Amino acid sequence: MSGLAFEGVSHRYGSLLAVDSVELAVRPGETVCLLGPSGCGKSTLLRLAAGLEELQTGRIEIGGRAVAAAGARSRVPPEERSVGLVFQDYALFPHLTVLENIRYGLPGGRSGGKDRARRALAELGMSDLAERYPHALSGGQQQRVALLRALVPRPRVMLLDEPFSTLDEHLRHEVRMETMNLLAGSGAVTVLVTHDAEEAMLLGDRIVVMQAGRIVQDASPGEVYARPSNLFTARLFGPLNLFEGTVRGGLVETPLGPVEAVGFADSSRVSVAVRADGIELVSTASVPTDCARVRVRSVRRLGAWTLVLMTPGDVTREALGAGEALRETVLEARVPGGAELIAGDVYAVRTRPEKAFVFAAGSG
Ligand code: ADP
Repeated sequence: MSGLAFEGVSHRYGSLLAVDSVELAVRPGETVCLLGPSGCGKSTLLRLAAGLEELQTGRIEIGGRAVAAAGARSRVPPEERSVGLVFQDYALFPHLTVLENIRYGLPGGRSGGKDRARRALAELGMSDLAERYPHALSGGQQQRVALLRALVPRPRVMLLDEPFSTLDEHLRHEVRMETMNLLAGSGAVTVLVTHDAEEAMLLGDRIVVMQAGRIVQDASPGEVYARPSNLFTARLFGPLNLFEGTVRGGLVETPLGPVEAVGFADSSRVSVAVRADGIELVSTASVPTDCARVRVRSVRRLGAWTLVLMTPGDVTREALGAGEALRETVLEARVPGGAELIAGDVYAVRTRPEKAFVFAAGSG
């Protein structure tokens, strides 16, 4: 494998199994996003690849060569792995100028590669910042410099750990797009760690979902979104409405109407997840009387989307205030537009089949 490969990699911190039997191969020119909540082992995998953490179990290859193997007498030190690292907190050298920071990893160190470093700065329209020190840069500028510092030596592997998470939303988008362009031309293996599903979809050729140290899905962004392997993965991509049910005649009844349960035997207990943006609310007059109904409790415009909270059936406002049990059945829809919806009114609901998922009960 000429890219980066993890073979049977596990890692413990004391009794905690932080990475569990990971198999992952990334090709040159490919960007893989490791997606999962905090603590699922993403950074540990990056640190193992970079050589910042000693490998305990398994083997790691870069460019067809083992850089670490459990039980082997020696391992390739971090600086010889051809790895570029970008962290959340930029980690620029505070006592070096922007230009010196970028030149740091080039042959000749601080004094070499001046032209290459200047060209890279010019490409991002930052030539005028060359002689500044990191403390005199904005967060976005610092992260661009950190990115160039990692990329300019043309590493085989780029490892980015939550590189945009400290930037504000507007800047985050801008720096993400620039990063995407820079990486696209680099031909490097890229592994980017994120807990943000949208970011993973934007930047990843592949998304690798991690849960408690294990890979639970490894597929294209479209596939992970459309066919999440379990409830955990489905949840990463936005709010869900969850129901438990039993399959009857290939269907599960839910308060949002019946959902198809393909591949489940009759009487199976299942969990149903319906994305909030997979719900359509229509006038009761326009659909058959057996169509599921909801009473809208609140309508909040969120820009392009409207957040609609509702209760199943035609439960009244008074009854709703009455008990804990009812509070649990508040449903959430995100609809485009939505200005016409009125809190207190009853609507018919339809779920989009491609946004409703059925999993074996208790899985994920
Ligand atoms: P993520 O990047 O997904 O947030 P990490 O790889 O940082 O996850 O951490 C995985 C688990 O290992 C977490 O439970 C974390 O608390 C633990 N952990 C990470 N680094 C250390 C360490 N140096 N010592 C002890 N536990 C650690």
